[in-house]
Amino acid sequence: MAEREHEHVGHEHVRVAVVGSGFGGLGAAVRLRREGITDFVVLERAGSVGGTWRDNSYPGCACDVPSHLYSFSFAPNPEWPRTFSGQRHIHAYLEHVADVFRLRPHLRFDSEVTRMTWNGELLRWDIETTSGNLSADVVVSATGPLSDPKIPDIPGLDSFPGKVFHSARWDHGYDLRGKRVAMVGTGASAIQIVPNIQPRVGRLTLFQRTPPWVMPRVDRAISGAERALHRALPFTTRLRRGVLWGIRELQVQAFTKHPHELGFVEQLAKRNMARAIKDPALRAKLTPDYRIGCKRILLSNDYYPALARPNVDVVAAGLAEVRGSTLVAADGTEAEADAIVFGTGFHVTDMPIAERVVGADGRTLAETWKDGMEALRGSAAAGFPNFMTVIGPNTGLGNSSMILMIESQLNYMADYLRQLDVLGGRAALDARPAAVRAWNHRVQQRMRRTVWNTGGCTSWYLDAHGRNTTVWPGTTSEFRRATRHVDLGEYDVLRASDRKGAEAVA
Ligand SMILES: Cc1cc2nc3c(=O)[nH]c(=O)nc-3n(C[C@H](O)[C@H](O)[C@H](O)COP(=O)(O)OP(=O)(O)OC[C@H]3O[C@@H](n4cnc5c(N)ncnc54)[C@H](O)[C@@H]3O)c2cc1C
Repeated sequence: MAEREHEHVGHEHVRVAVVGSGFGGLGAAVRLRREGITDFVVLERAGSVGGTWRDNSYPGCACDVPSHLYSFSFAPNPEWPRTFSGQRHIHAYLEHVADVFRLRPHLRFDSEVTRMTWNGELLRWDIETTSGNLSADVVVSATGPLSDPKIPDIPGLDSFPGKVFHSARWDHGYDLRGKRVAMVGTGASAIQIVPNIQPRVGRLTLFQRTPPWVMPRVDRAISGAERALHRALPFTTRLRRGVLWGIRELQVQAFTKHPHELGFVEQLAKRNMARAIKDPALRAKLTPDYRIGCKRILLSNDYYPALARPNVDVVAAGLAEVRGSTLVAADGTEAEADAIVFGTGFHVTDMPIAERVVGADGRTLAETWKDGMEALRGSAAAGFPNFMTVIGPNTGLGNSSMILMIESQLNYMADYLRQLDVLGGRAALDARPAAVRAWNHRVQQRMRRTVWNTGGCTSWYLDAHGRNTTVWPGTTSEFRRATRHVDLGEYDVLRASDRKGAEAVA
């Protein structure tokens, strides 16, 4: 121990460095404290907690999984105002979690991680941030799968004289009233934005590469009586959550094993469209030609009605070029615009943090993942000892709450740290390449029959090679079981040798 302290004189060292303070990072922080670990920091590039729910403040931003399921199991909130609560309430919930679980002393804002390098001699991560350097025995990277906005490389965009912003960086200072606005993209954010800005703007042109399947959103205010019941009898909140979870758990079989059964759901979605869209030409433009569920199913009651309004044009092609204030679609359609809003998603399969993580052999995580992201149980990549990713490869969900997956990954993290304790001394765990391969082989085998791979669409679930490295092809309970314990047989145990650095001893 004395030797260890000496090693770190004049240098900050923590047991665990968590990167990111969204649901993943805050959840990790709570779990660490519950495991009795207080020697940790949470490094956050922004000035407050919240991640997704801090950054996405666009009009209409809300979750599309019911709030009682889209929240931590260990922090039930009897006060959710709606079945699908809005961004403001989810953000406030995360601030509340940071207070109630006494996470503030651990939070380090304005600390963007710029580099993390594995130090094989001292078995630690050397971390460079915009607010200073430190080292950690273990890194828990919770930088989010949807946290770095992606704006496509559109020729001429630089010459556009008007306003340009991404849905996740909404410019609230820009007044859209009466403006000619182009919305690029028709994903989960765009379908929330369109009905919210349509009444205000002069003209709205929607550039749609692929139409989404849109189902009705069963959203309503949660009554005062329900909230009082949840407050008085906390088990009713758990019960509600359990029912919401169970329904989704049953539904997932159709996505993962029986995509042909989804035809019935497509009929419901088509009826949802037909109710609002009377013009057959517009209906044709909006009708998807791929299996429902292949891309994320979107929920909205006001998207189609907004598209039917006279100040909206749907261009059934992507934005291909910008010539001054003229926007040109891939099919040659032209539209004039004062502002362009990109609802074009995020860097998901090419997560920027991977460029900044340098592993045992000197290669970055991005280089290691150049042919596709792979990690053991969605968490540990080979050659990156004591480095865990929360919402790593193949841990996303097409139909349920990501918080369920995050909590499973936190179980894994807790056991990982326990195993390191049991090993004692200076030790690190490095996922064995064979174990990583075997895990991913199983995942990809199961993926073959899922709707995400067979449904005939191109989605952000697929990487540049067409491989699905984002979604978990099973139920959340299966993932929970798979991440309950760390199997040491899947890891090499590294020990610091006296002078020569680390050596594998198992
Ligand atoms: C608009 C929108 C709606 C969504 N709705 C749902 C939903 O209804 N249901 C659902 O299950 N999921 C939904 N999601 C997915 C959502 O991202 C996850 O559910 C969850 O919030 C992810 O949490 P996270 O902590 O992993 O990532 P994030 O919330 O993205 O947090 C990552 C944090 O890491 C920080 N960070 C990143 N890089 C660095 C760095 N280098 N150094 C320091 N800090 C860094 C970021 O600033 C951020 O605060 C939605 C996503 C979006 C964008």
